[in-house]
Amino acid sequence: MHTRKLFFILLAGLFLILSCQRADAPPVREARLTVIATIFPLYDFAREVGGDKASVTMLLPPASDAHHYELKPDDIVRVSKADIFLFVSFEMEQWAYKVINAAAEKTNMLAVEAGKGAALLTLAQEHRHGEDAAEASGDREAEHTSKYDPHIWLDFTNAQIMIDNIAAAFINKDPSNSETYKKNAERYKTRLMELDRSYRTGLAGCRTRTVLHAGHWAFGYLAQRYQLTYLSAYNLSADAEPSPQQILTLIDEVRKKKLPYIYYEDLAAPKLAKTIAAETGVGLLKLNNGHDVGKKDIKDGATFISLMEGNLKNLKKGMQCP
Ligand SMILES: [Zn+2]
Repeated sequence: MHTRKLFFILLAGLFLILSCQRADAPPVREARLTVIATIFPLYDFAREVGGDKASVTMLLPPASDAHHYELKPDDIVRVSKADIFLFVSFEMEQWAYKVINAAAEKTNMLAVEAGKGAALLTLAQEHRHGEDAAEASGDREAEHTSKYDPHIWLDFTNAQIMIDNIAAAFINKDPSNSETYKKNAERYKTRLMELDRSYRTGLAGCRTRTVLHAGHWAFGYLAQRYQLTYLSAYNLSADAEPSPQQILTLIDEVRKKKLPYIYYEDLAAPKLAKTIAAETGVGLLKLNNGHDVGKKDIKDGATFISLMEGNLKNLKKGMQCP
């Protein structure tokens, strides 16, 4: 009789403890957090922060033009099914508000501007894109042109701010795994700091600091951070033709500074780089801006850090660093 009574008391106590725990601890998710990130750097950052707790996909198909992406109806369906939609900024993905508005009506999807709080570089007037065209056509949508350089991830301190924003969003949606997200974010930020250090030491004492780029204006942040003189053939977008003046300036610089290499980007205009190389006899080296990542690179396991390490190797070669 006594044992039985004790048993019930214990049982009641156990229920009490369990129900208290249920009230205090955040609910455990049944499925992994689903995340859609617009472009490659964000996709890779989100994979790092999410680890095995998040299923991350990239919205833009590999090798599409991130600056002028044409949304497909299916994109909005995909985003509205996700827990979190990550974009860099309204400067980078000027179409992001369309997805957010359409998806927000149906779901409790969380839209996150991952670049919020990043230190921004003002885009010089000559590198802005589309202003003349927008004025001429009176196109209201095209009127919003970038005032700031949107390639913020190429400053590795900004990349760390993006990691913090991503981690905060993941914790907001899935507090039961907050410790994992915090730990993953800290570990990855340490790797970004190491990357920054390897750029600083790797790019010290080079024969030249001039970087001539036969691609679009993407490396302004990198140039500012590591004191490079950066010239590009195209403005913010490589879909317009470069001006003959810009091409002549690049050719002049190659000759004046006796540069052994110029840089090209994978997806846009390697033809121009080849033309300059044929004219001046310089060699060609690749620089990856982080958002132009092809199918093959992704299949081969490219990461943001591996792309940036590849850039550093080519910068050291082209700038003739010790
Ligand atoms: Zn770009």
